[in-house]
Amino acid sequence: MSTEPIPGSPSVDSSTSDFSPERRAAVLVETLPYIQRFAGSIIVVKFGGNAMVDENLAARFAEDVVLMHSVGIRPVVVHGGGPQIGALMDRLGIKSEFREGLRVTDAETLDVARMVLVGKVNRDIVSSINRHGSMAVGLSGEDAGLIRASARNPELGFVGDVESVNPAIIQRLLAEDLIPVVSTIGADLTGQAYNINADTVAAALAGALGAERILYLTDVEGLLADVGDPSSRISRVDLTGLAALTADGTISGGMIPKVQACVDAVEAGVGSAHMVDGRIPHVVLLELFTDLGIGTMVLPDGGVAADGRGLDVSDDGVDGP
Ligand code: ADP
Ligand code: MG
Repeated sequence: MSTEPIPGSPSVDSSTSDFSPERRAAVLVETLPYIQRFAGSIIVVKFGGNAMVDENLAARFAEDVVLMHSVGIRPVVVHGGGPQIGALMDRLGIKSEFREGLRVTDAETLDVARMVLVGKVNRDIVSSINRHGSMAVGLSGEDAGLIRASARNPELGFVGDVESVNPAIIQRLLAEDLIPVVSTIGADLTGQAYNINADTVAAALAGALGAERILYLTDVEGLLADVGDPSSRISRVDLTGLAALTADGTISGGMIPKVQACVDAVEAGVGSAHMVDGRIPHVVLLELFTDLGIGTMVLPDGGVAADGRGLDVSDDGVDGP
């Protein structure tokens, strides 16, 4: 008998083959209410952090996106690429200057960012999804007027803010049963391109699309009460709670735009925003389809159920969209 894997088949941790048939069936059945709940809905997933630079994790991510699509969810992938931009800048010998955590982006830096995001990172994600069938279509925020941008601060050069989002092109792709994969370069009315934080773009898109959920893959366990202590993960928080954590300095660095993006998404009507650990293989599946509480869930005020995720699939209407 051949032990060769079926080409393109999902890699399953070999330890699950030790599961009894009952246990395997239980795992599958556990997904049923989640699959039923999410069928037909739009879920935006921001791909970033370690998951994006580790080939194995990136392949697991592609499998998760394909599985979502296969059970009737309409996934929209938005990606960043800061580390990859930095790596090419180094190789080209171009020095980066940072102000308040943001890379000062002159015309040359913008060219590099655009090449890396649209020409490399986007292509890699599209091709890893399309190994499982021809579903993914890559696009930049410059395409079909998707993301209108404006300069954040002239001192930062071509670092953009989202001025507006026109999701028509995404809706057309979703109507064709395709999986949009979006690079976060936007353009102003003159056609000038800007590099925009991917967390911010993902939230704006999720709001404009009426997404059910937004998931942020990052390189930590979730939102931590003490950034030096991985066991301090906050599993659920509402908008008032997040404002307090921002005010007291608990949130810093790359978590600032991410948390703001979660707030923006939830205020725009997205049911919940989730920050999850992209270092965990198949974290998207675990977050969406199991009772495990992974990462940090951001809910609107008054939306926090007293108990755990069990309520998440009940019909009480309290805590979900
Ligand atoms: P990405 O956008 O790829 O997810 P970022 O580096 O932009 O990654 O943001 C995640 C980083 O934010 C973490 O690696 C961590 O160093 C930092 N951070 C700051 N404050 C917190 C906090 N309270 N909880 C978790 N991470 C935090
Ligand atoms: Mg970031």
